[in-house]
Amino acid sequence: MHITSQPKLPPTQLFIDGAWEPATTGAAIPVINPATGERIVDIAAGGADDIDRAVRAARAQFDGGPWSRLPGSERGRLLARAAELIEADAENLAALESLDMGKAYMEALNADIPMAVATFRHFAGWADKVTGTQVPVPDYFGRPRLSYTKREPIGVVGAITPWNAPTMIAAWKLAPALAVGCTVVLKPAEEASLSTLRLVELLTEAGIPKGVVNVVTGRGTEAGASLVRHRGVDKVSFTGSPEVGSQIAVAAGESFRRTTLELGGKSPQLVFPDADLAKVLPTAALSVFANQGQVCAAGSRILAHRSILDEVVDGLCAQAQAARIGDPLDPETTMGPLVSEAQLDRVLGYVESGRAQGARLATGGQRLGSRGYFLEPAVFVGSNDLKIAQEEIFGPVATVIGFDDEAEAVRLANDSAYGLTAVVWTEQLSRAHRVADQLRVGAVWVNAWGAPDPGLPWGGRGLSGIGRELGAAGIAAHTEEKVVSVVL
Ligand code: NAD
Repeated sequence: MHITSQPKLPPTQLFIDGAWEPATTGAAIPVINPATGERIVDIAAGGADDIDRAVRAARAQFDGGPWSRLPGSERGRLLARAAELIEADAENLAALESLDMGKAYMEALNADIPMAVATFRHFAGWADKVTGTQVPVPDYFGRPRLSYTKREPIGVVGAITPWNAPTMIAAWKLAPALAVGCTVVLKPAEEASLSTLRLVELLTEAGIPKGVVNVVTGRGTEAGASLVRHRGVDKVSFTGSPEVGSQIAVAAGESFRRTTLELGGKSPQLVFPDADLAKVLPTAALSVFANQGQVCAAGSRILAHRSILDEVVDGLCAQAQAARIGDPLDPETTMGPLVSEAQLDRVLGYVESGRAQGARLATGGQRLGSRGYFLEPAVFVGSNDLKIAQEEIFGPVATVIGFDDEAEAVRLANDSAYGLTAVVWTEQLSRAHRVADQLRVGAVWVNAWGAPDPGLPWGGRGLSGIGRELGAAGIAAHTEEKVVSVVL
């Protein structure tokens, strides 16, 4: 079964200062449907000149207004309107994600798009509540002082997003920046830009003025690198791989620009013997196979107490084998294709490495058919020192690792260069808190997975990145705090 209507393709040009225009060079990038390997359309391949025009437009809007000078309540009203329009367009946006990057339609419709809507709503509520503090300080040489702080928008934000959750992550970048009065140049991933282009149409319809949000599609090495180096950008907000994140940190560091780096993960799921496995296994499997494993917070290292190891492996295999793999636009499909042939090859390489290093492949790991980039979800049983347990695969590959006691479980969980999220599966309240306390990650989920919320800070430690976005931390990340001290 297919959904009844195909998505409506958005304009595929650059969106600069409120107008759609081609890339200066006329260059384009083909958009490939990963379910078929066929070209859908071309998007503009923006370069340095296009980034320069977009940054100038964002700069002019920030410096000359009116966006940054609007009352917060008015910005909030427009963001709330944007949330309404995104919600009304949810089916179309979800179908665009399926077509563009292979995410199962129902997953996009039930998870990604509602999260984008919730993010705009959350930050609509913040827009008129960005306040400073009045700080009581001692007199200045015998004269009283009134000292207070203000939170001012940081300026022009250069936002760069990955392909795995395009609408949701674009919302994470845009909504907090816009709430405080920043303007933005957004460079979506070249593999999946269509839903972002639709999103900017919706923001325009909501009444966001021209120049406030500019979108330059294009390659990372050209448009992305130009955005990062442009001196008109005050902050770089990046979500993507640690390799690119590190280059961005260096480039931004040279000119002391602020950055938020949301990078990869190799998140553990700690399954204790007191956990209710009937409840755990479907979610534990979802946490590593959702979006074909192309999730930064994928719980790809499953640490199971040895007394239940076999049961956990068998349960995960059963869940993997029950996946309905196929056309991502079909509402019955639970797993679509990987995003690209390159990603499929990369993941198959990891499957081979797992085998070569002696891990036991309990199920899956084979390419399905020759059309599109489909892969059977794989479950390995191995140890934490293997490459498949240490490196981010970004594909549907689980590695199950045994432990003997709580201390070993915590040690294995923390034995990773990454530190984004962790899941603790236990029915013991005290164990849940005790273990959560010891995990070196940005977020711990107990008896749940994939529970981010726009009100909670999001970000990682170690190779998973620097800084936090969303919630109050998202407001702080887009503002500068200024002190005013008046000697009375
Ligand atoms: P990527 O780093 O290859 O690309 C991300 C973005 O950076 C793309 O828009 C790309 O065009 C751009 N880019 C590439 N090279 C660049 C350069 N030299 N300068 C500037 N920009 C450049 O990552 P990806 O393959 O698109 O995404 C997968 C990665 O993203 C994974 O590591 C995943 O874990 C991570 N991710 C993290 C989070 C999080 O919130 N922590 C969320 C989703 C994805």
